[in-house]
Amino acid sequence: MDVLTISVAAMEAAASWRAEGLVQAFVPTMGALHEGHLSLLRIAASRADRVSVSIFVNPAQFGPGEDLDRYPRSPERDLEMLERAGADLVFMPSAGEIYPEGFCTWIEVEGMTERLCGAFRPGHFRGVATVCSILFGILRPDMAVFGRKDAQQLAVIRRMVRDLRLGVEIVAAPIVREPDGLAMSSRNAYLTGQERAQAPAIHRGLMRAASAAAGGQSVPAAALIGSFIDEVAGQPLLRIQYAELVDPDTMEPMQKLDRPGLLAVAVNAGSTRLIDNILLAPGRGALEVDP
Ligand code: AMP
Repeated sequence: MDVLTISVAAMEAAASWRAEGLVQAFVPTMGALHEGHLSLLRIAASRADRVSVSIFVNPAQFGPGEDLDRYPRSPERDLEMLERAGADLVFMPSAGEIYPEGFCTWIEVEGMTERLCGAFRPGHFRGVATVCSILFGILRPDMAVFGRKDAQQLAVIRRMVRDLRLGVEIVAAPIVREPDGLAMSSRNAYLTGQERAQAPAIHRGLMRAASAAAGGQSVPAAALIGSFIDEVAGQPLLRIQYAELVDPDTMEPMQKLDRPGLLAVAVNAGSTRLIDNILLAPGRGALEVDP
């Protein structure tokens, strides 16, 4: 496994794979790796000859007052995990390597980035889209794997790749959960014992909404959202920031579930912000989506 910190070195390594005709799958991460990240790696390995991974806590996607400075970092452990999981290349650039002096080019995906998380984290998706396009430009992967855990991010990246004709296939990976249903996240490390104990109500709420979705061919969004709120309201340490039914591709709000929809939620547990979602289909409930 090659561990590289300089863009030109990563560029050359990926170019030599291309010259050999090898297919490259890329997994971008911010490190503090867990089983969710490793599942992306396995999907990447099953579809490509070579797997590259980036570890970069991207300052451009954090707003003022957010957790950039305290974001969990465990580079040595991450590298051990990636080595064992069979990554071929790890790109771990510094912030200065990605945003050199004079950097002034940003990617704005309009509309869908203003909703859901974008409404509460202005500039977040501009930072995400920009860093992904830079990383795609360095590695030029054939495909990149993103988790459905960050469903809005997935939609934004898909739109960017389409609009800018970047020629990278975007592969979506299922959400990996703890045994009690909490979606795995590097930020779960912030939770106190009590917050952690209450956090699985988020997944229970999504599953309650899935039961409601299974019950009809046209289910009002308010009924689905209500099911979610009822479950989470029982937990005093959880505060819902948003819970919305949206089109999975455009993030446009849906008034009723009469075709597949995404129930996307953000919940604050103390000072920790947790996001989760479920894909719903009328008459069916939760949609299992193959990677
Ligand atoms: P992050 O390091 O949090 O920026 O995440 C890097 C990638 O891993 C993103 O594509 C995330 O959607 C994905 N990811 C994070 N947590 C999970 C999870 N629990 N299940 C599936 N994918 C995940």
